[in-house]
Amino acid sequence: MPELPEVQTVLDGVQSVLNGRVLAGLESYYPGTVILDPELSDDAFPSRLDKATRRGKYMLFQLDSGVTMIVHLRMTGKLVYDSQAMETHKHERARILLEGGEAIRFIDPRTFGKITLLKSENLEYYMPKLGPEPLSEEFDANYLHLILAGRSAPIKNLLLDQRLIAGLGNIYVCELLFRAKVRPQRPGKSISRKESRLMVKHAKAVLQEAIKVGGTSISDFRRIDDKTGEFQNFLQVYQQKECPKGHALENIRLGGRSSFYCPVCQR
Ligand SMILES: [Zn+2]
Repeated sequence: MPELPEVQTVLDGVQSVLNGRVLAGLESYYPGTVILDPELSDDAFPSRLDKATRRGKYMLFQLDSGVTMIVHLRMTGKLVYDSQAMETHKHERARILLEGGEAIRFIDPRTFGKITLLKSENLEYYMPKLGPEPLSEEFDANYLHLILAGRSAPIKNLLLDQRLIAGLGNIYVCELLFRAKVRPQRPGKSISRKESRLMVKHAKAVLQEAIKVGGTSISDFRRIDDKTGEFQNFLQVYQQKECPKGHALENIRLGGRSSFYCPVCQR
């Protein structure tokens, strides 16, 4: 499942493809994949990209026609650039058409992904409430310690809650908890200020390292050129058998997700 570094990687790829090109339209091949704002007028296309941004795991493409396209990859969605897009691929749910026959295919086997096309002024209505970006200054030890206070839910579940922090997912939470030496099942309120500081520091570091190498390709994450990211080679606990010090890792279920941790290194 794409998390912040993977979404950022895709966003950068799409931005470089769309730069200077004319978007000709958006086609949908599967019911429910494309959501259209009822207030949308029919002059959304042709248009050009004004600005591409990311918010949590959402990509926002602001077009110069006053329209915004929100892309949410969810479980298995990916965007793949094709210079000569003819027939639709298996699992291709939608397609962003570019002038001259090029396209960006939205491939999504599990069909949870969404592309929403809306009037830019309605953006707030279409976006869920999200916590601060983990790479922003707003996400610091004070903020984390404050939101954990009084909560008995496991720290891992709290870090995954997009309303508290936007963009973290299972892989990077497992990794940052290992680096911060904190067990995933600890209640949020048991986390000390010092541990909050360590978690913030390691969250930022692990995300930046992953962005640098194009994200993690575990199952089907691909960049826009359909190449894989490389951070899977740097994972210390996620889907591993031993921690870097050679201790056997535990794998427990928390909130329905596999949680890898080292019972020796993490307290
Ligand atoms: Zn260990």
